[in-house]
Amino acid sequence: MNNECEIKAFAKINLGLDIIGRREDGYHLLRMVMQSVGLADRLVFSRKSTGKIRIRTNLDYLPTGPKNLVYKATELVCSKYGIEDGIDVNIEKRIPVAAGLAGGSSNAAAAIIALDSLFELGMSTEDMCVLGTTIGADVPFCIIGGTALAEGIGERITTLPAMPECSILLVKPRFGISTKDAYREVDARPIEQHPDIDAIKDALGRKDLDGICANMGNVLETVSCTKYPVLEEIKARMRDDGAKNAMMSGSGPTVFGIFDDRNAAQKAFIDFKGSEYGRDTFLTGPVNI
Ligand code: ATP
Repeated sequence: MNNECEIKAFAKINLGLDIIGRREDGYHLLRMVMQSVGLADRLVFSRKSTGKIRIRTNLDYLPTGPKNLVYKATELVCSKYGIEDGIDVNIEKRIPVAAGLAGGSSNAAAAIIALDSLFELGMSTEDMCVLGTTIGADVPFCIIGGTALAEGIGERITTLPAMPECSILLVKPRFGISTKDAYREVDARPIEQHPDIDAIKDALGRKDLDGICANMGNVLETVSCTKYPVLEEIKARMRDDGAKNAMMSGSGPTVFGIFDDRNAAQKAFIDFKGSEYGRDTFLTGPVNI
């Protein structure tokens, strides 16, 4: 048995996000096309004889106790499998927090995968996803990764053909949006335009980047873009810089732009890096795990 396990936890973007209904308990029924991207946090899990879960991170404002999703996931796995050892976790965050990039969910997924490996628990992907769903609806996707359709409340994952190679520019303006608030605001008015999720799926099947970009859509965008006009400005600037399309990811506020031309993407990256958004500007690409 190894005493240490290092995991990369990848961020995600939503190529499509649609709300198709609501459950009686208030959860939204979704259809989303999710894509892992290369921007990642690095987590190191170590077995200790302390009997405690200890979390260290490079972000001083991130909780390190039970509110940290890694703590939650570790506690859940330990209690389910009767693990009494201590676990030290070092989280090196690169994915911006409360950004619509599943930074927290990807870390929780990493914890489940790491503990399964450290303690040779023999969990199936299904076991991991069931456990992950109790932490957050995006966790199962983060466990599976790559390109996928997420349905239900986001927990029902079907792997899709990999996204064609491209460059993806991520820019997060200097505020966070709480996922709860974003859904609450979208509930306050009827959704006028639903994205064609099946058209995105079909375009993925054809490896048709133009088709993917032409059909991208996110029902959470309208409210956020009205509330924060800077989002439309970032999107327009990305398109001026040569992006085939640009959109807000998940509940935002991160905007992503898709480029088929590496040089244009690099130039756009330099443009945004030198701007007020420089700190949270990343040039990456799809990751197919
Ligand atoms: P999503 O796209 O799944 O809605 P997000 O990117 O909008 O996710 P997260 O970064 O996942 O949002 O985190 C939102 C909240 O989770 C923050 O309030 C943060 O303090 C908390 N949190 C707890 N643990 C973590 C973690 N390990 N990494 C990031 N955020 C965490």
